[in-house]
Amino acid sequence: MVSKPFFPLKTNPTMISIAKFSENIIKDLLLREKNFEHMYGCPSCGYKGMFHRHGHYDRNVVTLNQHFVISIQRFLCPCCGKTYSLLPSFLIPYFIYTFDVIIFCLYSIFALQKKANYVCSILHGCNKQCFMTIQSIIFFKKRFLSKIHVVNTFFAAMDCFHYDSDLSSFSKNEAAAILLSRIVPFKQHP
Ligand SMILES: [Zn+2]
Repeated sequence: MVSKPFFPLKTNPTMISIAKFSENIIKDLLLREKNFEHMYGCPSCGYKGMFHRHGHYDRNVVTLNQHFVISIQRFLCPCCGKTYSLLPSFLIPYFIYTFDVIIFCLYSIFALQKKANYVCSILHGCNKQCFMTIQSIIFFKKRFLSKIHVVNTFFAAMDCFHYDSDLSSFSKNEAAAILLSRIVPFKQHP
């Protein structure tokens, strides 16, 4: 059973870290069970060693085509007792939809100039367990526009993501279209 899309909650005191940026979400999901992940270094107290494992929780994940329930590992800093959870990079904290679903929405809106209701119907057609709403897509759109310079800086800092990162001469909508046109075909090689 997939819960309805939800927006960021501020009730979880656990800090969230994002694992290495992955190019293949499904492969990553399938391999997760076999991989033992570790976390080192506490940003809170400065402890440099390895964290202790501290249980896990299940999380719904909706990709473009499927629904998964995955286990998210929690860690504990043995020095200060702060807890952390390690999210795979294809998940965005507090969102049920994977990175590629949200990028699909943004690319369709900004680069292909599609309407939110059209994008919504495409997603429902690809995945019967996708309950994306028009309101969610409008939220993604506003959030992306408000954070476009942060996103631009993030990708410009990656050595393998070659492009001219100066978007200052474009309108926000044009800059969004340019940036998304580079993110969509981007593959980071290990
Ligand atoms: Zn600590």
